[in-house]
This record gives sequence, structure tokens and C-alpha cells, in this order.
Amino acid sequence: MPRVAYVNGRYESLADAAVNVEDRGYQFADGIYEVCLLVDGRFWDEDGHFDRMERSLSELSMSMPMSRPALKAVIAALLRKNRLKNALVYVQVTRGVAARNHAFPPDGTVPSIVITAKPYNLAANEALASRGVGVLTMSDQRWARVDIKTVSLLPNCLAKQAAREAGAFEAWLVRDGKVTEGASSNAWIVNGKGELITHPLGHEILGGITRQTAIRCAEEMQMKVVERAFTVAEAQRAHEAFITAATLLVMPVVSIDGRPVGSGKPGPVAQRLREAYLRRCSEIAGERPRAIA
Ligand code: PMP
Repeated sequence: MPRVAYVNGRYESLADAAVNVEDRGYQFADGIYEVCLLVDGRFWDEDGHFDRMERSLSELSMSMPMSRPALKAVIAALLRKNRLKNALVYVQVTRGVAARNHAFPPDGTVPSIVITAKPYNLAANEALASRGVGVLTMSDQRWARVDIKTVSLLPNCLAKQAAREAGAFEAWLVRDGKVTEGASSNAWIVNGKGELITHPLGHEILGGITRQTAIRCAEEMQMKVVERAFTVAEAQRAHEAFITAATLLVMPVVSIDGRPVGSGKPGPVAQRLREAYLRRCSEIAGERPRAIA
């Protein structure tokens, strides 16, 4: 399979693709990213991901490095060059290359843009969802603006690694006794009344695009969604739990800190929501973007 990356206007072999060592993304994590899913060549939650990208950039006083249609055309070209139809696309924009100084570089410094694509295996994701995953709770050690999707992910990496070493799939991050979100997903529980509970938007969580669409799906099915923080103890008493992310879709959580959630199997609410999410995204997926050469 060819592996091709887009780097600052050029399509290059992934193995050779590189950015300058003075790129501010490399030096300072001064940049943002997006991850979105394309199934059968169509974007899922396209507007949500592009809107969030624009917002993340604007929070760092940056603007989109190219128009949305141009970005979509590059992504389409990248998929074609990689011969992919189902893909996870990674887009990263940094403040560009400049002599290393903390303050922003001079006006006119050109942002760096890197786009990569890798195959997405929906069947493998389905298999994982039929078993469900375990999560491990730990302290949330991230900065106070995790609503911005910056490339500064060290605490998330450390948390995920600690979870994996303990045999769990995901880390649930806890601040002031409340679960904020996962290391790379949003966290949800379902209580005895059948209410779906997830942390409200704000500076303490990343506003997941899958979270947003899942809320819409739940409400369409007359499920009650309550956006409020929940404690670890509440999560352990919950009837069900699940996580959402573009890479995972709606993924049932079957254990928290080694203890089973509810029956210890994927719960009916999470399963129905997952089906609704899959249906919604495949029905209203964006048009296939036209590739440029
Ligand atoms: N929270 C964090 C910290 C994440 O990294 C992600 C994945 N990007 C999410 C939530 C889920 O966001 P989305 O549904 O947009 O993938």
C-alpha cells in the first residue's frame, strides 16, 4: 500500500516526509490538529471537524491555512494517492518555522500544514465494540484549556500508556473528583433512570464532534442527555458506560478500574446509540470531495 503524506504543498512518501527542526509545532507544540473519519470516501461529521479546526486555530490567533474546499480537495487527493476509501485523516497546522523564541514569530511567517491518512478498519472497530473496553481512572494533569485541540498531548500520552500498562484500553481523567473525559475520547455513563450523562462543554474537556452528534442521535431517540460532571463512584454504580471519538465511534465501556460496569457486557443504550450514530453518519455523510491532481 502506498503511504503518501501532504507536507506544505507537496505530496511526499511518508517515510521521507519531514518538517524543519525549527518548526514551532516541534519546538513548542504551537499548533493544532484534527482527526476525521472518511468512510467510502465520504467525510463523517465534516462540518463539525472543520468548524472545530477553525475554532482551535482562532484560539491560538491563527487562521485556516487554506479554504475548506481546498483542504477537502487535498484530502481527497491524499486518499486517492494512498488508495484509501475508509481512512482516518490527520491534519496538523502549526505556527510555522522561525528562530526559536517563545513569543510569536514575525507577521508573514507561513504556517506549516501536514496531512496524513491511514486505513480505517470498521470491521475491527465493530469487533471491539461487541466486546467493549475497560477504562482506568487517574488524575487529570492537563492544562486549563483542553478545549483547544492542540498538539500538546504529553499528559494524554502518559495517561493512555499508564492505562495500557494496567491492561485497560482508555484512561478516564479525574479532576476535583469528577471525570472530565478520556485521554482521547469523551466519557459517558447511563444511570438507573436511563439518563445519558457526560461532562458539559467548557475549558475542561475537548468538545468532541462525535459527542455532539451522539447527543443529537440520543435526543432523536427520545433518550435524555444530561450534560453534567459525574464522579468515579457514580460511574462505578452506573448501569452502562461508553466513550465517543471519531476513531472509536460509540464504544461501550464494560469495566472501570477492573470492576464490571452493570452486567459487564456492552449495554443496550450504548449499542442503540452506536447503531444510530453509524446510521446517521452513513446517511448524511458529506459529498465525496473532488480530488485535485
Ligand atoms: N477528548 C479528547 C481529549 C480527544 O483527544 C478526543 C479525540 N480527538 C475526543 C475527546 C473526541 O473527539 P472527537 O469525537 O471529535 O474525535
